[in-house]
Amino acid sequence: MKILVIAQQKDGKATSATLEALGSVSGFGAELATAALAEDAQAFAGELAGAGGGKVFAVSNAGLKNFDLKIYSAVCKELIDKFSPDLVVAPSAGSGNSLLASLAAKCGGGMVSDIISLRIDGEAPIATKPQYGGKALSEISSNGSDAPFFVTLRPKAFEPATAGSGEVVTESVSDECFTPSLTVTESSKSGGETVKLEEADAVVSFGRGLQAQENIPLVQDLADSLGGALGASRAVVDAGWIEYKHQIGQTGKTVTPRLYVTVGISGAIQHLVGMQSSKTIVAINKDKDAPIFNVASYGIVGDAMEIVPALSARFKQGG
Ligand SMILES: Cc1cc2nc3c(=O)[nH]c(=O)nc-3n(C[C@H](O)[C@H](O)[C@H](O)COP(=O)(O)OP(=O)(O)OC[C@H]3O[C@@H](n4cnc5c(N)ncnc54)[C@H](O)[C@@H]3O)c2cc1C
Repeated sequence: MKILVIAQQKDGKATSATLEALGSVSGFGAELATAALAEDAQAFAGELAGAGGGKVFAVSNAGLKNFDLKIYSAVCKELIDKFSPDLVVAPSAGSGNSLLASLAAKCGGGMVSDIISLRIDGEAPIATKPQYGGKALSEISSNGSDAPFFVTLRPKAFEPATAGSGEVVTESVSDECFTPSLTVTESSKSGGETVKLEEADAVVSFGRGLQAQENIPLVQDLADSLGGALGASRAVVDAGWIEYKHQIGQTGKTVTPRLYVTVGISGAIQHLVGMQSSKTIVAINKDKDAPIFNVASYGIVGDAMEIVPALSARFKQGG
């Protein structure tokens, strides 16, 4: 079996979701290759080789500086044609879903997005995907066609690769791949976010129970004391308290941190589908019958205005 991992980088370093993608296939004994695409991919490719990336195809080109689906898809298609993988794996975060959907269409292969587990049965990759907001799990395999099977991985669902062996192969692809479909006129960093929501080990999410936008520093302080990121319910996003990029749930992001803390969130199903796979859930709500307590590992019944500052103070003490 041959497996190709399509890596993602941020500021020249492999993302944690990429290391999880390498970790997801490390035990299969397959012939492994990794695609490292960047404006200058050498250091990035070296990092992937050291993390067990197998044969790491380093493709460097100015056209790879920003994610342009047309360019990335054309380059990866050439790598797929050269390497002929049976399985192609990428993080679902960032550009992974759109890139693999495009490649699956070009190659005529099947694709499953946002999977939470992967195994090989004989020579057949089998992916597990949550359905109906996590109420059912589907096992999905390829229909046996010669085309590769494409999967994207849910962040935090797989253990990251730590170390391994690999070699960097400087790869060239045809010039036609680099015909852009868009021009980036300006880039700027949004927010002052220090921890990326999908990659955070701890997420503190707040809802309407926080009472007012002015109280957001209370939950931000708790998130900071845990080294985590800030999430939100749709109610407070719709109210304009915080940007949409923080929304967790059916119409927002799906997260699977080790610790998920809810502050003044009732626990509507549309919120639960975005967070209920979290390892440990702590719910703070003044209503002891709030549905969030049905999925919580630990529940604190009381006023968030008193509990949240007390927790932050305790975590800052290291308690
Ligand atoms: C198609 C569709 C898609 C949706 N997508 C999403 C989505 O992606 N994400 C999402 O979150 N929602 C989504 N929703 C909305 C969802 O149904 C709920 O309306 C929303 O999640 C409720 O947000 P909330 O828990 O902040 O507010 P509320 O339901 O109003 O709950 C507030 C909670 O705060 C508690 N509280 C009040 N005061 C305090 C206090 N002082 N201390 C502690 N607790 C207190 C209350 O007891 C209550 O449980 C969607 C809805 C639809 C129809």
